[in-house]
Amino acid sequence: MKYCDLHIHSTASDGTFTPKQIVERARNFHLSGIAVTDHDSIAAVEETADLALKSGIDFAPAIEISTGDLDGRMHILGYYIDIYNRDLSDLIDKQILARKDRVVKTCKVLTDLGFPSTYDDVAKIAGDAAIGRPHIAEHLVNIGAVKNLLEAFARYLAGGRPAYVYKWAPTPDVAIDVIHSAGGLAIAAHPGVTEGMLPRLPILVEMGIDGFEAYYPRHSHEAQEEIVALAEKHDLVVTGGSDCHGIRRGDPLLGVFKTRYELMIKLRERWKQGKLRTAVNS
Ligand code: AMP
Ligand code: FE
Ligand code: FE
Ligand code: ZN
Repeated sequence: MKYCDLHIHSTASDGTFTPKQIVERARNFHLSGIAVTDHDSIAAVEETADLALKSGIDFAPAIEISTGDLDGRMHILGYYIDIYNRDLSDLIDKQILARKDRVVKTCKVLTDLGFPSTYDDVAKIAGDAAIGRPHIAEHLVNIGAVKNLLEAFARYLAGGRPAYVYKWAPTPDVAIDVIHSAGGLAIAAHPGVTEGMLPRLPILVEMGIDGFEAYYPRHSHEAQEEIVALAEKHDLVVTGGSDCHGIRRGDPLLGVFKTRYELMIKLRERWKQGKLRTAVNS
């Protein structure tokens, strides 16, 4: 059986593996295909694509877009996107500004709470990556405020906790439209673990979502079955991935949690069909 992993974070967002380390690990674990899906960033796509293809590993250019509306927050994956698309880069630019703004504000709150924090402290940890709460969490570990990342979220950074700060994000319909405008397929990320997302899948279908991520380490068997059934009902694709963040969240799942490679082939087939339809209609 051949396997792939369609959900991997690199050092371009909040993963700890570089593109080189991702591809080396994928090769060691005999994966046939991978996709890097950094939060609001495509910065690692080209390098990983080059390395993967040199290693004979199939590669899908991708992104994981953070979205939000009055009903909550959802992540939308975009696959086979054109990383040079203008609508996509405009959206990414806005997200990066919102991310920076949030880190500045969070650092003020943390300082008021007695944990001296500056934007620069966090920026040093993030480097070139799309800066986010995991980098703030690492700073809190560094100054001894918490023992680990999970404690940083549980005590301070998660929604409803004292250092949670609102961050602007596009609504899901906008994210789906931008992914389509960039020629990609929009897939609902881990709907079985994001609070309130399963019941909203039919709304995402109306918005034009192309599929759901069904196979995911923290999905219950029931959630997985429900997601697959709903995808079949609407003739949508299903995907799967480890959501590997390197060693940031404990054990790296890349190569350990595996998805059938056949799903990557089906995903690309669906993407090609879309391209053909667009060509016929234009
Ligand atoms: P941000 O994009 O800055 O809002 O950070 C979101 C990222 O933080 C997610 O993609 C996860 O990697 C991580 N994260 C979110 N909530 C938690 C949590 N409760 N515990 C650990 N990591 C979390
Ligand atoms: Fe993350
Ligand atoms: Fe996610
Ligand atoms: Zn992810």
